Amino acid sequence: MKEVNRFPAPAGELGWFLTANNRHHVFAKPEEIENDYDYVIVGAGFAGIMAASKLAENKPGASIAVFDAVQVGMGDSGRNAGFMIDVPHVTVGDPKVDADHHKWRLRLNKVVIDRMRAIKQANDLQVDWDETGKYLGAREKKCFPALDNLARFLEGIGSPSTLLDRGQSAAALGTDYYLKTLFTPGTILINPAEVVRGIATTLPANVRIYERTAVIEVKEGSSPSVRLANGRTVRAKKIILTVSAFVNHFGIKESGRLFGINSFGALTRELTTQELEQFRGVAPWGCTAAHPAGSTVRFTSTRRIFIRNGFTFSTHQCTSPQRVHYARKQLRKAFEARFPRLAHVNFEYVHGGMIPLTRNTQSLFGSVGQNVFAGTVGDGLGITRSSMLGLYLADLVCGVDSGELRYLQKTNKPSWCPPEPFLTTGATAKLMYEEMTAGEEI
Ligand SMILES: Cc1cc2nc3c(=O)[nH]c(=O)nc-3n(C[C@H](O)[C@H](O)[C@H](O)COP(=O)(O)OP(=O)(O)OC[C@H]3O[C@@H](n4cnc5c(N)ncnc54)[C@H](O)[C@@H]3O)c2cc1C
Repeated sequence: MKEVNRFPAPAGELGWFLTANNRHHVFAKPEEIENDYDYVIVGAGFAGIMAASKLAENKPGASIAVFDAVQVGMGDSGRNAGFMIDVPHVTVGDPKVDADHHKWRLRLNKVVIDRMRAIKQANDLQVDWDETGKYLGAREKKCFPALDNLARFLEGIGSPSTLLDRGQSAAALGTDYYLKTLFTPGTILINPAEVVRGIATTLPANVRIYERTAVIEVKEGSSPSVRLANGRTVRAKKIILTVSAFVNHFGIKESGRLFGINSFGALTRELTTQELEQFRGVAPWGCTAAHPAGSTVRFTSTRRIFIRNGFTFSTHQCTSPQRVHYARKQLRKAFEARFPRLAHVNFEYVHGGMIPLTRNTQSLFGSVGQNVFAGTVGDGLGITRSSMLGLYLADLVCGVDSGELRYLQKTNKPSWCPPEPFLTTGATAKLMYEEMTAGEEI
């Protein structure tokens, strides 16, 4: 494996993290880092934290260290739109992913959601967590078939959904922007930074989390090790890499099959009681777009509006401040189009992040070297699916067999990607085309 030369860094102002009630929680101190652990996990997003949680359950006596280059909740797990989605995303992806696969994915998503809910309840975690489902919204008539097809598909796999017309959607959302929506009840809306950090605070004492501790090299072998940016070398019996698309920089065989797309999010200031008038009787909600390049919108339980849109290809898995700056204009336009009466309300936070993807939506999952394992999600359902990869990587390294694990091992094979510069050129052209054809869905 090779030395890492690209590291995650905050991009813009990370609103979810900065408003998280547990942002000041102190995890383990760097001077407490030991030379040897049973297990080392690199990356403390949802994948890494859920891997740690399951490892600690499988091996209560084991020593487990988790290293992350940034603070827990500052990575992409804390920069997303906070949709913990249960239902398959059939509007995107490989047509070869058929109904049987989607049933599996639905089942696995539910395993994860149930586990997170159980952790939250057992520890009485006070985190922003709304079990209100989600809407898939269409403004453009050309996008109606996407809603109808998904409704039919969900019916086929026994998953409930309801189609709403413009009036019904307006009553539910407090904006009449959407001409048609599809409601599905199983999604949970969260402050993702608060939830991933919250779950991290519940891990038992044999799990030590070291924030702001970048790993610059992983060495496979009978006694694998990680080299930290602070010069220390830490050995483990087994190493799990849950670093999202940054896995490309660790020099594993599958490097290059994962890529990242930058997207951007904005969180308004808290709305005043007067501004909340237009939401009288409206519960917190979240709406994703029927068009792949459309805007995601939330009315949060913390009285803010969240907007996500914009796609740029992330050649090196980094999000520059310039890109965050350019994203503001489009975020603002989407906000004002949906909430013209709130046009005076400022964005308090605007940030950028990366959505890890593969060409066939399959994740990277499994062994990537002697005693080294990795998991990176390959589609947009990153919270549930990365958490799922973490859970089952923990089972894989501990030899805990299940049908779910075997399914993940059998199916998660990311497809080949063209090399650079063709990848960036082709992907950029595709993203530009998607944005140009999205019309008022943005
Ligand atoms: C704007 C936006 C909106 C999104 N909306 C949604 C949504 O609503 N729902 C959804 O399901 N998904 C969404 N996603 C995708 C989702 O955020 C990701 O798929 C998910 O966070 C992946 O989780 P992970 O744990 O695999 O990776 P990450 O959360 O990226 O965690 C990987 C961790 O590895 C660390 N790391 C990397 N390299 C190193 C190193 N060398 N040393 C130490 N640590 C390292 C990083 O700091 C990071 O914390 C969105 C993404 C973006 C950007």
